[in-house]
Amino acid sequence: MTKDDPRRGIPRTDHLLALPGVCEARARLGERAIRDIIHAAQGRARHGELPPDQVEQAVVNALQARPTSTLHPVLNATGVVVHTNLGRAPLSREAVQALVVAGGYVDVELDLATGARSKRGVAARAALLAACPAAQDALVVNNGAAALVLATTALSAGREVIVSRGELVEIGAGFRLPDLIASTGARLREVGTTNRTHLRDYAEAIGPDTGCILKVHPSNFRVQGFTSAVSVQALRPLADEHALPIVADVGSGLLRADPMLPDEPDVTTALDDGADVVTASGDKLLGGPQAGIALGRHETIARMSSHPLARAVRADKLALAALEATLIGAMPPVVQSLHADPDRLAARAHHLAAAVGAQVVPHEGRVGGGGAPGLPLPGWAVQLPETAAAALRCGTPAVLPRVHDGVCLVDLRCVAEEEDERLLAAVRAALGDGVR
Ligand SMILES: *Cc1c(COP(=O)(O)O)cnc(C)c1O
Repeated sequence: MTKDDPRRGIPRTDHLLALPGVCEARARLGERAIRDIIHAAQGRARHGELPPDQVEQAVVNALQARPTSTLHPVLNATGVVVHTNLGRAPLSREAVQALVVAGGYVDVELDLATGARSKRGVAARAALLAACPAAQDALVVNNGAAALVLATTALSAGREVIVSRGELVEIGAGFRLPDLIASTGARLREVGTTNRTHLRDYAEAIGPDTGCILKVHPSNFRVQGFTSAVSVQALRPLADEHALPIVADVGSGLLRADPMLPDEPDVTTALDDGADVVTASGDKLLGGPQAGIALGRHETIARMSSHPLARAVRADKLALAALEATLIGAMPPVVQSLHADPDRLAARAHHLAAAVGAQVVPHEGRVGGGGAPGLPLPGWAVQLPETAAAALRCGTPAVLPRVHDGVCLVDLRCVAEEEDERLLAAVRAALGDGVR
């Protein structure tokens, strides 16, 4: 660097750290984030991308613009209710409020009346049992996969889990339930074939090493044609004969049968049919936070909660709080979207379309999250040029539409009605001057 190289004028770190605008940012940002921003600005100046006399202002601006969380709220205009890439179920207002409270010190393991330690998660457990009276007891863990693996481990570690070959599911991102179950020491005993499994297949597999019989809902695919499977109900007498527990993984977290989803298994029916424990996710059709729920018989839940693995998969206080509030509070967004009135959806779509000069087309939504594959949710979408999709995703608020057959489709099923004005503004901005 020569004596009069302009880079000599780059402000030093000490100087920048002492600027009033930087001191103010300390109320909101940590020291490392502040230093990273300072070093980035100095680096740009060193590379000639920023004049040295503008470094101060650039640092202050960057600090002001730096969010502490980079997750963006997204309006889900895909029509897919449980959208995995958008974090599955959005929480109800009550659940969000409960999360904020639970963010502080809370009596999650304390009885305020006596000052003594209390059992973790009693309120969430009580809310689950009230919502699902068919269960004698309940346990909340970290996620659905954890609930399943805890059940099979507590009942079958070192022994065999009998499962149909038609139910060896990969749940997404390469995670296979058989590998998961085997990972904690239970051995899988596969029975039947991909398309057909009979009661005698289970009967022939039962032996002194059997720990439990597992039924998994193949939630994200369908086998059609020459198929047969054995229901929990049909397995119950066989299990009784050998004093074996039945574990049923229903996946979606639907607590009772929903006529909208005729093929979706629910917890209550599985328990009534004779499952000893039913496992499911909290953030699919239950509409709550990420959690795994296990509902079932006293003895079975007790075996699960006293197993050492239970500690490794326990639910955090935020999830417990949000789950309780989801169950006690008003209908969560997932359930509202699923049962959205088609006429109301049409009216909202026409309003949006008219405002931007676009057309409304029939559009089928989906349950998503690996639930009810192939089940259409009839509705409507506003049809925009394909090029609008990227602009919508990058706008504020971000909007995720569906791109299909060379067009951009905005489906209002999963957009809360009070967001319609913001959605309209986002669509206007994305289109520029309107639909061309
Ligand atoms: C979704 C699903 C799981 C996994 O639940 P997570 O909450 O994602 O861990 C397991 N089994 C079935 C049948 C599922 O649908």
